[in-house]
Amino acid sequence: MVFKNLGLQEEILRAIEDLGFETPTPIQEQAITQILAGNADDIVGLAQTGTGKTAAFGLPLLQMINPADRATQGIVICPTRELCLQISNGLQDFSKYLPKINVVPVYGGASIEKQIKDIRRGAHIIVATPGRLIDLIKKNVVKLDTIKYAVLDEADEMFNMGFHDDIDEILSYAPEERKIWLFSATMSKEVEKIAKKYMNEPLEISV
Ligand code: AMP
Repeated sequence: MVFKNLGLQEEILRAIEDLGFETPTPIQEQAITQILAGNADDIVGLAQTGTGKTAAFGLPLLQMINPADRATQGIVICPTRELCLQISNGLQDFSKYLPKINVVPVYGGASIEKQIKDIRRGAHIIVATPGRLIDLIKKNVVKLDTIKYAVLDEADEMFNMGFHDDIDEILSYAPEERKIWLFSATMSKEVEKIAKKYMNEPLEISV
């Protein structure tokens, strides 16, 4: 399989070619094909770190964004500041030929004022750690009522770190029609619970 047969748009293909990606990893091939074919609303992806998950959800997510609409359309929730920056840098690399799409990282332990300014300039996709995202929702800076996609990355790790209630709260702000793409190294009890509560017959992808 090659990237250009997965249904990705030209601007995205050029960006991944610049990054030197030649063949999709197994999670990329499966997730991108299924999402772009419209075969799955909600997805549970079981994959370890380092398997290419960022592009597996990031490329189809970018393709689904309408740049002409300023509203936040996607959120990616992840456990740590480091991962948050890694994911948002990845999405920025993947969208280098889609300059109208804004990806904004927000995480704790850094100035909230700067993050507020960044979001107010427009954030089609927000990549966030759970606590900071809730702070920004409570301040009315972030509104989740326009989101179409919520990605939970390293879900098992987030539950291990005690973010269960935060994730529950975040998902409760999102509209009913949003799609959830959950990635986790393991199918833990907590992951199963969230899947049962918020997801609609998720497609399970395991690599
Ligand atoms: P990730 O699991 O998304 O953090 O990706 C792990 C590493 O693999 C990152 O350095 C990516 O840039 C790289 N990578 C991801 N997908 C591919 C691919 N299809 N071909 C080559 N490298 C990749």
